[in-house]
Amino acid sequence: MRGLMMNRPLLVSSLIEYGAEVHSDQKIVSRRVEGDIHHQTFAETRDRVAQLAHALKALGIEEADRVATIAWNGHRHLELYYAISGIGAVCHTINPRLFAEQLEYIVNHAGDRVLFIDLTFVPIIEKMQGKFPTVEQVVIMTDRAHMPDTSLPNVLCYEDLLEGHPTSYDWPDLDENAAAGLCYTSGTTGNPKGVLYSNRSHVLHALSVAAVDGFHLETRDVVLPVVPLFHVNAWGLPYICMVTGTSLVFPGPHLDGASLFDLMDGEGVTAAWGVPTVWLGLIGEMRKRDAKPGALESMLIGGSAAPRAMIETFEKDYGMDIVHGWGMTEMSPIGTIGVLPPRYDGRDIDERIDTKAKQGRRLFQVEMKITDLDGNRLPHDGTTSGELYVRGPFITGGYYNDEDANAGCFDEEGWFKTGDVATIDEEGFLLIVDRSKDLIKSGGEWISSIDLENAAVGHPDIAEAAAIGLPHPKWDERPLLVVVPRDGAEPTKDGIQDYLATKVAKWWLPDDIAFVEAIPHSATGKIRKTELRDMFKDYVLPTD
Ligand code: AMP
Repeated sequence: MRGLMMNRPLLVSSLIEYGAEVHSDQKIVSRRVEGDIHHQTFAETRDRVAQLAHALKALGIEEADRVATIAWNGHRHLELYYAISGIGAVCHTINPRLFAEQLEYIVNHAGDRVLFIDLTFVPIIEKMQGKFPTVEQVVIMTDRAHMPDTSLPNVLCYEDLLEGHPTSYDWPDLDENAAAGLCYTSGTTGNPKGVLYSNRSHVLHALSVAAVDGFHLETRDVVLPVVPLFHVNAWGLPYICMVTGTSLVFPGPHLDGASLFDLMDGEGVTAAWGVPTVWLGLIGEMRKRDAKPGALESMLIGGSAAPRAMIETFEKDYGMDIVHGWGMTEMSPIGTIGVLPPRYDGRDIDERIDTKAKQGRRLFQVEMKITDLDGNRLPHDGTTSGELYVRGPFITGGYYNDEDANAGCFDEEGWFKTGDVATIDEEGFLLIVDRSKDLIKSGGEWISSIDLENAAVGHPDIAEAAAIGLPHPKWDERPLLVVVPRDGAEPTKDGIQDYLATKVAKWWLPDDIAFVEAIPHSATGKIRKTELRDMFKDYVLPTD
C-alpha cells in the first residue's frame, strides 16, 4: 500500500524562497573583485535571483542547458547558483586554477552554452578564444562602470543583464531528479570527471548538514566559506544557509591571513570553513596580532586531513571549537563531521583533540563500509583498516558521460569506492589512514604515506614532505620521502631519520630521502602523487 502524502518535488528553488521569506533580513556580505564590501539581505538576494532567471530565459537558456561560472566567492556567484538551477538548467562551476587544457576539456565535455566570469578571469578567457565552440555568450560579472576593455566579442555586463526584469519568478515544478549542478574532479589519471548533482541531492545534502547538532550554523551565526563556490558548491553552504538562516560572508579573491582576519573581524564572523592550507596563513596572522578575529568561535576544516597540531593551536591558544570533516566532490561533498557528542564534555582537552583529529561521524543518509581487497566487510573496531565505500542519495551514481571513469568505481551492491583507506571506531568516528593509490605496501604490510608525511612535517627544518612507494627487490615497495626544506634551513638525511625514529615504527622509516625545491600540487592544493612518482620513476633505492 502506498502512503497518501503529497509528492512535492525537492527543488533548489524552494531553498532560496524559504530563506528569503523566513530568514529575510539575514545577510550576504561580499568582498567584491572591484574592491568594495557589499551587503544584501536574503530577501534582496531572492529578488536579484528572480531577475537573473528572467535574463537567462531571455538569453534562450532552456532546461538541462549547461551554464558555466568561473568566479570567486561572492553574491553574484551565489545568485547564479539559484537562478540557473531554478529554471531547470545546470550550474557548472569551473575551477579557475586548472591548466588551460583541462579547462578546454571541461567546457567542451560539458557543452556549456553561456560562461559567466569574474573580472579576474577575463584575460584567461581572452587567451582561449576559439577553444570553446559550444559557448555562445560570455557575461562579465560586474557593473557597467567596471566593464573592462576586452578582445572578447559580444560580451555582456552582469548588472545590465539583470536591469528591468521583474523581481519575482514563477519557478517551474521540475522533476526533483533533474540535474541542477555540475562539478569536475581530477582523477589520479586521465581527464577530469564530471559529478552531476540533482535538485533532490542538493536539498537532501543541505538537510543532512543542517541536522548536525551543535555545529555553529544557527541564525545567530555568521559563516565565512574560504572553500570556493567553484569547488563542490563551497561544501554546500549556499544551500545549507537558506535552511538554517545563517548569514554568509564571501571573501572574494583575497585569501591571505591578513585579509581574512580583517574581514572576519569587521563582519562578526563566528564560523569559517576551509582546507588546512589557508588556515596556516590565518594562524600566522593571529600570532602576529596576538588575537583572534573578535567573534570567531569555530572552524570546519576538511578537504585534506586537519593536522593535530593545527587543531591544538586553535583550541588551546585561542579557545576555539574545531570541527574536522571529510568528504568528496562525488558526495556533494560532506560525508562526515566531527562534532563531539556530549559524553566528551569535561574530558581532558588532549583526549578531545585526539578524537577531533579523526574525520568525524557520518551524516544522516551517508552509509559507510570498509572492506578488504576482496570486498569482504571489515569490523568497525577502530583498528582494522580497509577500502572505504559509501552509499546515499547525495552520492554520485555515475560520472557525466564518462563510461571509462565509471568502470571500477562501484561494487556489485552499488556502493561507491572512495579510494580512501580508513578505520571506523565503535562510536562511528572515521579515520582516514591513506588513499588506496598512495599506500605503500612493504612485505605485504601497509605503510601510511600520510602518517609518514605528517610526522616529517613536524621536523623544524621541513616545510613540506611527501612519501611515495618505490620498487624494492625484497619488500616489493619501500618509502622514499621527498622533502622541501624550510627557507634557509639545511636538514640532513641522518637528522631527519633520527627525528622520524621517535615518531613512527622502525620499519616505516624511509629507505631514502630526496630534497627538492617544490612538490607538485593539484589545482585544489593536494599533492600530486602520480606526478611525483613520475619524477622519481628512475630513482633506485639503496638496497643494503
Ligand atoms: P575532493 O573531491 O577534491 O574534495 O577530494 C576528496 C578527497 O580528499 C577524499 O577522497 C580524501 O582523500 C581527501 N580528503 C577530504 N577531506 C579529508 C580529510 N578531512 N582528511 C583526509 N583526507 C581528506
